[in-house]
Amino acid sequence: MTADGCADLHLHTNRSDGSYEPAELVRLAHKLRLDAIAVTDHDTVAAVEEAVAEGERLGLRVIPGVELSTLYGDADTHIVGLFVDHTNAELLELIGRAAEERRRRLVRITELLSENGIDVSAEEILDEAAGGTVGRVHLAEALMKQGTTNSISEGFLRYLGKDRPAFVEKWSPAPEECCRVIHRANGVAVLAHPGDFIDEAKVKGLIDAGCRALEAYYPGYSRAVTETYLRLAGELGVGVSGGSDCHGRRKKKRFLGTVRVPLEHLDDLERRCG
Ligand code: AMP
Ligand code: ZN
Ligand code: FE
Ligand code: FE
Repeated sequence: MTADGCADLHLHTNRSDGSYEPAELVRLAHKLRLDAIAVTDHDTVAAVEEAVAEGERLGLRVIPGVELSTLYGDADTHIVGLFVDHTNAELLELIGRAAEERRRRLVRITELLSENGIDVSAEEILDEAAGGTVGRVHLAEALMKQGTTNSISEGFLRYLGKDRPAFVEKWSPAPEECCRVIHRANGVAVLAHPGDFIDEAKVKGLIDAGCRALEAYYPGYSRAVTETYLRLAGELGVGVSGGSDCHGRRKKKRFLGTVRVPLEHLDDLERRCG
């Protein structure tokens, strides 16, 4: 694998729904000869300190990040914050609120499962997550572990997905609030995985809401899709980011280092912070 000046700026650890310990992820990135990575767990910065420390030990640049869920219209939309100050009070307040809502939702989903004759313990999932972000992936895993389903996707198809019997909408802050908080924490807000179907109106809407960059490099994006987003970012005057969205063993198709962002974009993103 070639590795000249490349970064992977979208990664998850087991502090949300990835499978790697933060330090383990950093060691793997080092082995894959990445020059920089960003740790971007869903609605939490719990992995940042451990990952940054391991990066310092190995001489690998680790950028503190977060991936916030928001709604654009009624579509679940993700905004990545890069270079955030992970001790910023407003950021911690926002993700604390999101975490509380996620815990409440987890309990509500287990109640709905119970009404459908399936017993899953919310307490066990919360204990195992040890304060990390919990979501439907954890529930899908619990269903699989107890033999109710045979795969994560079966859990979504039968119970957890939209219009299924145990679906519960997730509370999310508005995109404007996500971007404002990321910038006040000295970071840069990036529209995550805008999609291989290029919806320019949606991209523009989210840039109007405050996003200062978009992910042009993402698993499954053809060269043509990436080129289109690079051009669009240039036209709109925003930066470019991307990454593998690696979740470790939990989503094997999106693996660390399989999407590589040229380092020049990283310098540009840093200039857009705050
Ligand atoms: P949550 O934030 O709790 O609503 O969970 C959303 C996560 O569930 C997404 O990030 C996806 O990774 C995962 N997910 C959504 N739909 C499916 C599906 N059909 N199969 C597997 N994973 C899914
Ligand atoms: Zn995820
Ligand atoms: Fe995402
Ligand atoms: Fe992600």
